[in-house]
This record gives sequence, C-alpha cells and structure tokens, in this order.
Amino acid sequence: MKTVLITGGSRGIGKCIAENLAKNGYNVVLNYNKSEKQAKQIQKELMEQGIKIETCKADVSNREEVKKLVKFTLNKFGNIDVLINNAGIAKLQMFNDITDEDWNDMLGTNLNSVFYCIQEVLPNMIHNKSGCVINISSIWGLVGASCEVAYSVSKAGIDGMTKSLAKELGPSNIRVNSIAPGIIDTEMNNNIDNAIKEEIKSETPLNRIGRPIDIYRCVEWLINDEFTTGQIISPNGGYVI
Ligand code: NAP
Repeated sequence: MKTVLITGGSRGIGKCIAENLAKNGYNVVLNYNKSEKQAKQIQKELMEQGIKIETCKADVSNREEVKKLVKFTLNKFGNIDVLINNAGIAKLQMFNDITDEDWNDMLGTNLNSVFYCIQEVLPNMIHNKSGCVINISSIWGLVGASCEVAYSVSKAGIDGMTKSLAKELGPSNIRVNSIAPGIIDTEMNNNIDNAIKEEIKSETPLNRIGRPIDIYRCVEWLINDEFTTGQIISPNGGYVI
C-alpha cells in the first residue's frame, strides 16, 4: 500500500484527507505543529476502529524539523509515495500593515515549507522513479485577494513551483500538481461572518461553501491518476471560473 506524508493534518482539510486515506488503507504520516491534542485524538479514534495512522510533530517552516519529519516517515515505512503539502496559515490585513515579521511568517509557513518538504522527499522519490506531490494552494493565488496579499503571494508561489517542478521532475516519473480550493468550511474561515459566507454562497454557481471532503476527493483522484502533472485544479463550486 502507498505511503502518504501529509503536512498540517491536525485540523480542517488536512485532517479530513489524512483520516480518509488511512481509512482507505494507505500508510499515513499525519504531521502537526501546535495541535498535538487534536492529532492524538484523530489517532485514538482511528485506532478504536482498527485503523493505524502515524503522527509526527514538526514546524514545517523549519528545514531541520522537516528533515526529522521525512526521516521519521522513511524509518516507519521505508518509502514515500505521496507528499501532500497542506499546512498553511492565513491573515487578513491591509497591505501597508504587513510587517516584515508577518511577511516572513506567511511565506515561511505557506511557501518555504513546500520548498523544504519537496526537497527532502525527492531523493527517495527519484530513487523509486515514482512519486506524487500534491500542493494545496488556493483560489486567492489564482485571482488575488484584497487584504490578503501575503497569503495570495504564497499561494501563487506554490502554483509556480508546481508548474516548474512538473517539467523538471516529469522525466523521473514524479507528478506535481496543485489543488487550489475555493472557500472551505474550516477553522481558517472562522473570522468570516455569516453574512459574508451567505454572499459568497449566492455568488457560487453550485450555491454552497466547500467542505473538506470536496478536497479529499480531488486528492484521491490525483493519487490514482497517472497522466496529470503541472496542473492547478480548483474545486471551488464555480466561484472562480
Ligand atoms: P486550518 O483548519 O487552519 O488548519 C491548518 C493546518 O495547518 C493545521 O493542521 C495546522 O497545524 C497546520 N499548520 C499551520 N502551520 C504549521 C506549521 N508551521 N507546521 C506544521 N503544520 C502547520 O486550515 P485549513 O482550512 O484546513 O487549510 C488547509 C490548507 O488549505 C492551507 O494551506 C490553506 O491555505 C488551504 N486553503 C484553505 C481554504 C479554506 O477556505 N479553508 C481555501 C483555500 C486553501 P497545527 O494546528 O497543529 O499547528
């Protein structure tokens, strides 16, 4: 069975992806950083259903911690078939209010992490002449979000990395794709009030906010596909067309 390393699996979209992959028989390493309790709870609940999942704490904005995370995964399973770069943060602020620290935090967590994780996983994938990298970006990387410049830049950067790397790694049979979700109902959007959510819903052809499972389905499809690389796939209900 394939081995999957997913970053930021303790909550929201990452949690849904990790749980469902584990339920479907994949070897899963669920990375978390601050939400240790949630990560252990996921592991406990799956264990009660007879399903195994490994958890590993690492701040993926830190190269040394990423090295340890990849080493942990290789020690457990000997191999990494699928890397899902999902960990991310978001912050609403006016462009002129962004401090150097805000900027570096955002780019460090959302973009440098993807750079570090792919670089650390690559020797194993190249050795296997096989691999699947899925980067979770965002519609805001495609169209830009007002008051979320740093976030939008980080996600557009991910999509740039996806396209370039797909070209570089295709000959090694490693596929690299982005999933650019629309608005998904997770803690990340707790600060959006209900009136705005209703407005977004009404502007969405499929007339609803996304759910983490919508992203999981896309992940599962990409893992099993064999001829898609360098693509930015955007499950967004038609909000961005
Ligand atoms: P979320 O509920 O806030 O969860 C974020 C996850 O990222 C948590 O598991 C968190 O782990 C992890 N994380 C944050 N910083 C980390 C770090 N330095 N190292 C390791 N893990 C870290 O967010 P979400 O909505 O599920 O978002 C998941 C991904 O989808 C993000 O990349 C986000 O940008 C993207 N996305 C979300 C939406 C949306 O509408 N929700 C739309 C488009 C794209 P800890 O709590 O353990 O630190």
